[in-house]
Amino acid sequence: MKSLPIVGQAFAPHPPALLADTVTADGHRRYCTYPFRLFGIASDLVKPCTWLRQARGTSVLPVEEAGGDLMEVWRSEVFDNVRRSIADGEYHHCNLEFCPEYKGAQKYFFTAEELRDRFPAIHDFVIGKDANFRGGPEIVNLSHDTECNLSCPSCNRLELPKLNHTQLRGFAETLPQLGGELEYIFIAGMGDPFASQHYFQWLRTVDLARFPKLKEIILNTNGILWNAETWRAIPEATRQKIGTAVVSIDGASRRTYEENRYPAHWEALLANLPFIASLRERGEIKRLRAYFVYQWNNYHELPAMVALCRAHQFDAVFFARIAKWTGISQWMHDSQDVAHPQHSAHQDFLRVAAATAQLSDDQLEVVVMR
Ligand code: SF4
Repeated sequence: MKSLPIVGQAFAPHPPALLADTVTADGHRRYCTYPFRLFGIASDLVKPCTWLRQARGTSVLPVEEAGGDLMEVWRSEVFDNVRRSIADGEYHHCNLEFCPEYKGAQKYFFTAEELRDRFPAIHDFVIGKDANFRGGPEIVNLSHDTECNLSCPSCNRLELPKLNHTQLRGFAETLPQLGGELEYIFIAGMGDPFASQHYFQWLRTVDLARFPKLKEIILNTNGILWNAETWRAIPEATRQKIGTAVVSIDGASRRTYEENRYPAHWEALLANLPFIASLRERGEIKRLRAYFVYQWNNYHELPAMVALCRAHQFDAVFFARIAKWTGISQWMHDSQDVAHPQHSAHQDFLRVAAATAQLSDDQLEVVVMR
């Protein structure tokens, strides 16, 4: 999980235009369900969503203050604080401008009416029936180990604390505290599951019986170390739980890929993609998704990325706006952020993005974050 800047407690209210999509055309509030379903564990913070405006003790909790009981954190005032700001329609703790869920397909935004049957605990909280959220976490986003084989310019993993083996093992041990209700484990929001010794060891040794409701492990990887050998090292029962895989690929040519995914080689990616595609073809992976961070040097490659995905059995590709993570200078971010209306390439980006979004069809879902 990447960490957005700690911006202090005094956030400005969102302008009405930015909040427009939180209400239906006929005036009903739409509630984002992420902080009601997701538990994020990073090496510095625990949080109910990845994309918050982070203020320690208000929207996120420092790991060292979180204590040992993850369910206590889940039921904390800090987590409920974020949920309340959604229930009251202000989304005060959300970084809406850069949120890929809000600025993407908005698949998990619902009205109270829609929530009633599908998510009754969320419904009861947002209508004010329950003062505290009584539902449990559905999905945990594991980001507590920052170890990765890549050091991408747009990623801030080297700015974050690197936990030692004892601390990492501690997280792995406490994870089953959430196990009773957990349906999805996302590994990894930070670091790579094949490059991190900790994550890879977890995948090879996890006792699935401790997660009785687990439907799926979602594998999030840069794909460079995902090959037949590393795949077979994971026990078959665990492999069968890996239903969805997300492969991050921030370039559709050698030049941009190698600039954005340092020090990976384009050939190494191209060598592994047929293997990954074969897993999807045989049904070992049920859904294969690509994640592409668009920026100044690669936005023109969006259509080429769609073609690359089609050639390798992907089901979906998401084009994400580059985020301003902690440790990335404002100047560096602004020079890359073609989604910003003041960027010199913005109009051209809009043209490419609109044309790319048209390429979506029954075989490949294409979403370009606005
Ligand atoms: S709107 Fe975005 S930032 Fe806010 S809770 Fe939902 S996913 Fe997180």
